Amino acid sequence: KLLGALKTFKAPGAAPKRYDNSPPMTEQELTQALAAGEVIPYYQPKVDIRSGMLKGVEALARWMHPERGMIPPDRFIPMAEQTGLIHELTLVMMRQAMSQAATWHSRGLAIKVAINLSPLSLEVPGFVQKILTMIDEHEVDADQIVLEITESSVVANLGNALGTLARLRLKGFGLSIDDYGTGFSSMQQLARIPFTELKIDRSFVHGAHSRKNLRVILQSALDMASRLELVTVAEGIETIEDWRLLQDSGCAIGQGYLIAKPMPANELPTWLKGHHRR
Ligand code: C2E
Ligand code: CA
Ligand code: CA
Ligand code: CA
Repeated sequence: KLLGALKTFKAPGAAPKRYDNSPPMTEQELTQALAAGEVIPYYQPKVDIRSGMLKGVEALARWMHPERGMIPPDRFIPMAEQTGLIHELTLVMMRQAMSQAATWHSRGLAIKVAINLSPLSLEVPGFVQKILTMIDEHEVDADQIVLEITESSVVANLGNALGTLARLRLKGFGLSIDDYGTGFSSMQQLARIPFTELKIDRSFVHGAHSRKNLRVILQSALDMASRLELVTVAEGIETIEDWRLLQDSGCAIGQGYLIAKPMPANELPTWLKGHHRR
């Protein structure tokens, strides 16, 4: 009986979050949605944890379905990766994020725009050239764009990813290790990739003020990152306690619902006004 219970035990958070009970999205639906411009970025602010100043935004995919409403990425990114549609999705997201970055910069808002990359994209022949053509077309500088890659995916594909990442870094793109602390990478593996930023996973950030072990891991990751001269980012800051703890731990940049939820591009100026008044 115990064995049965153990077999069905699932670690918390292991099951994908379901937001509704509608049937899963199909490959065909996503293909059409991408062509129709239904997949758009929402932007979540990344702010300086001391001054509160806006430093950048992260682009997060949202599928604006005409009948079902907004579909979150957890419901279609895994399918996109299985079917290969992720390559088109990455390009669609990049095009919009770069065009938005150019608009913001032309209005004097010099913030970095981060884009999530699937590890699969790093293996596409000609991927680097495609991105370079795109930044030329949109007249943005590579150093205004940050590419976020999850720690787990980097480790799994290090051989393939390394060359592509090194070339992107040489061109000036920022490279961020996403979800740090969940991927079991070794220091040796990470040291081989020219990262510029380390994003501590939400599970360390949110639990840290009540759990000493998490706090110790968090602090040592921050210490290591700053010695490697990486920009440190804490994601998933939800409470004022989280914020203060990260501030005291010397983290540079914060992101989370406490500061702002992801929002459409046109809401950013209004948020910024209210944020500065605080
Ligand atoms: P991620 O890159 O780790 O992004 C952070 C996720 O945490 C986002 O969920 C964001 O909305 C959410 N979040 C931000 N602040 C808080 C907070 O304070 N508390 C909590 N509980 N959550 C917070 P979202 O937008 O649903 O995205 C989920 C994942 O889907 C992303 O995780 C990323 O891995 C993937 N994803 C999203 N957009 C893209 C994309 O354009 N391309 C690729 N390849 N993956 C994407
Ligand atoms: Ca991310
Ligand atoms: Ca993350
Ligand atoms: Ca994540």
